[in-house]
Amino acid sequence: MKRLLAALIVLTIAVVVGIPAAVNWLSPARIEKSGTVVHMYSHASGKIINLSVEDYVKGVVAAEMPAEFPEEALKAQAVAARTYIIKRLTGGGVTNPIHPGADLCDDHRHYQAWISSEEMKKRWGSLKYYRYYFKISLAVHSTDSEVITFGGQLVDPVYHSSCGGLGTINSGEVWKFDVPYLKGVDCPYDADPEPLRVVTFTAAEFRKATGADISSLPVSTGSGSLVEMTETTSAGWPKTVRIGSRTFSSTAVREMLGLRSARFKISSDGGDVRVSTVGYGHGVGMCQYGVKGMALKGEKYQDILRHYYTGVEISDLKGGK
Ligand SMILES: [Zn+2]
Ligand SMILES: [Zn+2]
Repeated sequence: MKRLLAALIVLTIAVVVGIPAAVNWLSPARIEKSGTVVHMYSHASGKIINLSVEDYVKGVVAAEMPAEFPEEALKAQAVAARTYIIKRLTGGGVTNPIHPGADLCDDHRHYQAWISSEEMKKRWGSLKYYRYYFKISLAVHSTDSEVITFGGQLVDPVYHSSCGGLGTINSGEVWKFDVPYLKGVDCPYDADPEPLRVVTFTAAEFRKATGADISSLPVSTGSGSLVEMTETTSAGWPKTVRIGSRTFSSTAVREMLGLRSARFKISSDGGDVRVSTVGYGHGVGMCQYGVKGMALKGEKYQDILRHYYTGVEISDLKGGK
């Protein structure tokens, strides 16, 4: 679940925005006949593993979304994961400075998370493994060769765990670029069981993380604001904040404090520092708990994807659907 690496996303979006090339579809024949088109660096083994696109997609769905989510949610995740890898493979000579010789890796901080069948067995136990593997395989096979496109181009199918029910965010509010299909949308059925979280830091912990000594900061009592929001998003969340004498982006604060999201409020009574967050992840694109909620309401994966990615189509790489 969780996060695709923001920096890489920005990089990919930069490529999309900067080089509007014609669609360079991966040849369907390459997918069907070679069987092995994904060269994935495995962090555990330190080796490059060769996988079919569909085996790659299965491992991503297993790693990125709880397998107990409804079938239509798993299908939406499968199409997003497939779009991601096909876009990567057809990116027109995208080099991989992190893992030379590989198309990508299995670490969510670098690309999408991926796990092997052995890892699935370990995580789920062998009884659940058969049920879940079957369920995921069905989601992958039943959406076979389907991808998300916008204006005939593959999209960057970014997703996050939960928007906390407040709705998703325009890409330009989190990253550098506004992407037409990555607009903030409502998330009416967000099924995140714990959308709000509060974490408490001691003054020493806060100082260690941010470099700011709260005793020197203007702190009002009770719910007083410890930090000053220097820029806000359209929804009123911090975009940049000043802590002490330094200004940080909200994503930098999220990273420094290890927060679940950059939609946070920080307060202190002069002692401990209390940070409350909404949702989990960057908030852009598909909200996985929102997907779960829509699927439970009976929505189909195509409608779910079209809800979270504005103006997109679900296209078939083989044509005809
Ligand atoms: Zn990696
Ligand atoms: Zn949501």
